[in-house]
Amino acid sequence: MKALLLSSYNHLELANLPVPSPAPDEVLIRVAACGICGSDVHGYDGSSGRRIPPLVMGHEAAGIVSAVGSSISNFAPGDRVTFDSTVYCGACPSCLRGDMNLCDSRQVLGVSCGDYRRAGAFAEFVAVPARILHRLPENLPFAEAAMLEAVAVAIHGVNLAHITVSDSVLVIGAGTIGILTLQAVRAGGCKKILVTDVDQDRLNLAKQLGATETLLSAENLQSQILQLTNNQGVDVALECVGRNETVAAGIDATRKGGTLVLVGNIAPNVNLPLQKVVTRQIRLQGSCASSGEYPRAIELLASGSIKVKPLITAIAPLEDGASWFQRLHNREPNLLKVVLTPGTWS
Ligand SMILES: [Zn+2]
Ligand SMILES: [Zn+2]
Repeated sequence: MKALLLSSYNHLELANLPVPSPAPDEVLIRVAACGICGSDVHGYDGSSGRRIPPLVMGHEAAGIVSAVGSSISNFAPGDRVTFDSTVYCGACPSCLRGDMNLCDSRQVLGVSCGDYRRAGAFAEFVAVPARILHRLPENLPFAEAAMLEAVAVAIHGVNLAHITVSDSVLVIGAGTIGILTLQAVRAGGCKKILVTDVDQDRLNLAKQLGATETLLSAENLQSQILQLTNNQGVDVALECVGRNETVAAGIDATRKGGTLVLVGNIAPNVNLPLQKVVTRQIRLQGSCASSGEYPRAIELLASGSIKVKPLITAIAPLEDGASWFQRLHNREPNLLKVVLTPGTWS
């Protein structure tokens, strides 16, 4: 099969690899679409340490079941599916609590980090355990279904915030996850959603997709937010970037007793303004991947409550994958999600 192989850092090549054969509890999927995640781009150059070559990356995918393992009876060839990016065991204490995203033997598709190496979906075929599969509605195009992983991540962060309809909410960062987070907050009925970013084009998109106010990140960000919230700060902020300045901005923007959900994590460490957090009693809530949000994500996408099409910059064949990675890595302006199509059909 054709696969996009990270053979060394910053080097992707189209390789011919054997088609995986599914284990008894696995399903072989013919991949129709697989999105390039920011984490793939940060892994591609070696900076995250989570894509140690050689590796086929890709964890945001959709396709058609091509074969099933010997113990699988609930899926059959021809089924249209997507799958969780997290492979969980289903038996450890975290899994039994329902926190599959925190599984003790968690593996992420398309990741190799020293502890494990798991082939991903930038390939014609990928084998995954049947327990992480989700069926797709007939009318949902594969390229859009490949965004479901990111939609589930956004919904997970929003669920952890316990937002009420009267709350004011700030989303920090208008990249893919930020814009999906905005839409997930809106789908919950919340009326006051502020979005901030350093990029005006992204803010325009946020506005188009339901932001009440968009704020170009600047030195007076905090005073703008106070002005919009009766001098209180927002009830909930969702941080979708993950670096010093943006986490600090989230803490400054959150009202006393409010909640800051930390979704983004570009930087492994940030400075914590401890006294602001303690004396203003801000709840800091980490959010990792998703756990159980796929059905809701599929529902919101199929109903049009969450729109992913405006986030897709390009749908391109696997052959163009290397050049798209390079362009994303170079941070070319106006690039959001690039979806590769390893199959010859869509
Ligand atoms: Zn991802
Ligand atoms: Zn587990």
